[in-house]
Amino acid sequence: MPGLAPNLRHFLDQHQTVRVRLNGDWPPLILQDQGETQGISADYLRLVTSKLGLTIQPADIANFSELLGRLPTGDGVDIQPTMRATDERRAYLHFTRPYTTFPVVIVVRKESGFIGSLDDLTGRKVVTERSYWYSDELRKNHPAISLNPVANSEEAMRILSQGDADAYVGVLPVAIWHMENRGYTNLKIAAPAALSPAELSFGVRGDWPELAQALDAALASITPEEHREIRQRWLGNREPGGLDPRAVALWGGGSLIFALILLGSFALANRRLLREIGLRRQAEEQLRTSEETSRQLLDASSDACMLFDVDGTMRGCNQIFAARFGVDPLQVPGTSLWDYFPPQVAEERRIAVAGVVAAGKPVVTTDVRSGRHLSNSIYPLKDNAGVVRRVAVYSRDISEQVWAEQKIKSYVAEIERSNEDLEQFAYVASHDLREPLRQVSSYVALLERRYGQHLDDDARQFITYAREGVTRMDQLILDLLEYSRIGRGLVLVPTQAENAARIAVENLKTGIKDCGGTVTIVSPLPAVLAAEAHLIRLFQNLIGNGLKYHRDGVPPVIRVSATTDASHAIFTVSDNGIGIETEYFERIFGIFQRLHVRNQYPGTGIGLAICRKVVERHGGRIWVESTPGEGTSFHFSLKRPD
Ligand code: ADP
Repeated sequence: MPGLAPNLRHFLDQHQTVRVRLNGDWPPLILQDQGETQGISADYLRLVTSKLGLTIQPADIANFSELLGRLPTGDGVDIQPTMRATDERRAYLHFTRPYTTFPVVIVVRKESGFIGSLDDLTGRKVVTERSYWYSDELRKNHPAISLNPVANSEEAMRILSQGDADAYVGVLPVAIWHMENRGYTNLKIAAPAALSPAELSFGVRGDWPELAQALDAALASITPEEHREIRQRWLGNREPGGLDPRAVALWGGGSLIFALILLGSFALANRRLLREIGLRRQAEEQLRTSEETSRQLLDASSDACMLFDVDGTMRGCNQIFAARFGVDPLQVPGTSLWDYFPPQVAEERRIAVAGVVAAGKPVVTTDVRSGRHLSNSIYPLKDNAGVVRRVAVYSRDISEQVWAEQKIKSYVAEIERSNEDLEQFAYVASHDLREPLRQVSSYVALLERRYGQHLDDDARQFITYAREGVTRMDQLILDLLEYSRIGRGLVLVPTQAENAARIAVENLKTGIKDCGGTVTIVSPLPAVLAAEAHLIRLFQNLIGNGLKYHRDGVPPVIRVSATTDASHAIFTVSDNGIGIETEYFERIFGIFQRLHVRNQYPGTGIGLAICRKVVERHGGRIWVESTPGEGTSFHFSLKRPD
């Protein structure tokens, strides 16, 4: 049958033969005719089983009471074709939608006095079929009636006709059938019985909900023509009202009004049924479309998705799940989730799921299986009463992400290691290099002192160059030493930046005076988390550069200011000097990188490298903005105290 959900199709493939109690005796719903089972219910049964491709195997069960004992567990029988759903029965059986509806009526002998309702049967002896819903309702709701339950309708009608009971309560077409076929001309239908009508469904064994769902789907697909055909066959000219008014008038001993009431209620029941069928088919169609949409959505996900009962019984999954475990998605429903994992993982899963079920809250877990990293989001699904009945899991393969993170971590560790090595090297080298340099320096001085007067001008000039070289090299080594000393793990404490800036200006006092410059600190500068000595050094280098790189004839004007946000302060040291071309913005922060020859502007090119290292060790950033010929602004950010 097209449009059947995959789990139902799978179920039907697994269970192609169904055992049905065919030896029932409830004409014209079910009856035995020359060894063959016939009747309205038998026709519906054949129609739906053929739609589902099922083979019927007769189950020989003596009576309805025995059937009720065996059906819940599927003990010898899977389907009972004529059954009314009651709350009590629903606890241990599954039911399809009703496929037909008839009223329940009171049948009496013609000579009986007026019987208009069940109340008129008080103290009377009434026969009815044992274990049927209306016999239960009679017992419970009308205790004043003396009830005599018998094995079947045949026996009940015979007892009534023979005068051993005052009335029979049963389903309308059943009563009519017996009166017509057994020649009970002494009986009449007296009145409708105010009991639940015969809304007949298929009852299905308690552990096979899928079969009930499949039968339900098949019933929903029955066309109005097919319904009409079955009813026409068994109710004949009583269609669609269900009863020939003349026949009722005859049986009812002239009670035509009642016949018409019955006729009306019958017609109404039929119309309601047809309307309901139409609505259900529409709902079915909508359900199919929405199922399809959900499936497409799930299959479009890159996560493995699964839905299962709290005990791990799988209800469904998407293609990714099936591919991950190498199974056919149609084979998954009904299997146990725990069987998909090695025992230890299964146990961990079971514990995680139990935790989610108990807490009623989703969790995300991660695990590694077959070398792949999985992130599992586990969601509890509650029923209307708020009880967790099912669990949905979305399992994402995050291996690539995890590997990328691991790679980044190992690169960072490697870089840190090699930085440490470099710093160590610079420190050791600068220390050790000064020793031979001192030796060169003292021997050059000795040479000059002892032999200076014997040397010509050229030789003395060469000695001067050598001394200058030694001095410059010593300065470079000292710079390198200073640079390498800006160690890691600085102790950062709340520090008044304004103090640090003022000390820096104080240190540069002579230089400022010499070049006729002005340095303005825009008060107040904020407090920051810093090591004060380093902060002083930072301001000093930047202000010092502003003084040094001034334009010819233009006295340097330097301004130190700051802005803040919630977590950081950004400082700016700006000048009106020569400026820097954009292309050098990065290079100037490198060690010993200079843009000018020594004669023009003195220096070794270490100042900005130290600035950058200081700022970065404080967790900040330094950058430059400049317009050549107009001036330069250095900016750096530092963290503020909480
Ligand atoms: P040094 O001043 O010893 O050369 P720095 O590392 O302090 O070393 O500066 C690197 C280079 O950046 C300098 O050689 C100079 O060309 C350029 N520079 C630094 N500060 C300024 C400034 N305020 N104005 C113009 N150029 C600057």
